[in-house]
Amino acid sequence: MTARPEVEEEILDPARVSEFIAHEGAPSLSPAVALAHKPILYLERVTVSFDGFKALNNLSLYLDDGELRCIIGPNGAGKSTMMDVITGKTRPDSGSVYFGQTLNLLKLREAEIAQAGIGRKFQQPTVFQGHTVFENLELALQTNKGVWHSLRTRLTGEQRDRIDEVLELIGLEDQRGALAGRLSHGQKQWLEIGMLLAQNPQVLLVDEPVAGMTVQEVESTAQLLNSLAGRHTVVVVEHDMEFVRAIARHVTVLHEGRVLAEGRMEAIQNDPRVIEVYLGE
Ligand code: ADP
Ligand code: MG
Repeated sequence: MTARPEVEEEILDPARVSEFIAHEGAPSLSPAVALAHKPILYLERVTVSFDGFKALNNLSLYLDDGELRCIIGPNGAGKSTMMDVITGKTRPDSGSVYFGQTLNLLKLREAEIAQAGIGRKFQQPTVFQGHTVFENLELALQTNKGVWHSLRTRLTGEQRDRIDEVLELIGLEDQRGALAGRLSHGQKQWLEIGMLLAQNPQVLLVDEPVAGMTVQEVESTAQLLNSLAGRHTVVVVEHDMEFVRAIARHVTVLHEGRVLAEGRMEAIQNDPRVIEVYLGE
């Protein structure tokens, strides 16, 4: 069984989140931006330095509620660092990061950010190989409440319904009793997305989901992520341009720690700056 250190971290005291919502000052979002969009999550002028090198350089990024956003860009552009900042793994030198316009993520710990409704899927699937698909989803549900030895606790009817719903979403109903270790690489990725979904996050951050997948699996993953938009805000970092074309309505190109271009895929593909730094590689 793979260790998942994050699940045994401190558990969020819900009062702490409410406290921030109640007492933190107004976010720095400019009124024009606040009126034009309904951002669920935004970063403003965020800079992260590693020994003087700016992995993020004054990055501003706004994500609307329920949108599906693809983030592309050359290696080292700062895509993973951006996700690290949102999830509290890396603290920026400067800038602001807000969730739901009022929750200052820079004041929350990693576990608290996850509990507040931002789920992240890393590139390598970290499912519990020795447990069934169903049990994996059960564990994901229960960690939300801090109950680690959850396989001994009975699920409520509501929790069973949620697991069934997630199994259908990720297309693994027929594998519910199968050991996760026996699943294909693609199925493991879907199971892990399902484990995030079990907790019903408002925002899902997904780092390179289709690496190593078959063409058919890539297609199913595109469908899955598409079906999640609307109910969740989905942010996908991906290199596979076929995949990006299949799902992207709105694409952000990062380069040298900031936004190089942003817009609809058709426009992005024909942007000479994007072709020069990324697509023309
Ligand atoms: P991407 O995900 O777009 O490929 P990253 O965010 O991983 O890019 O990295 C951006 C830059 O920051 C890279 O040049 C990388 O080497 C550097 N970097 C990332 N994390 C660290 C770290 N913990 N220490 C030092 N440099 C780092
Ligand atoms: Mg990366």
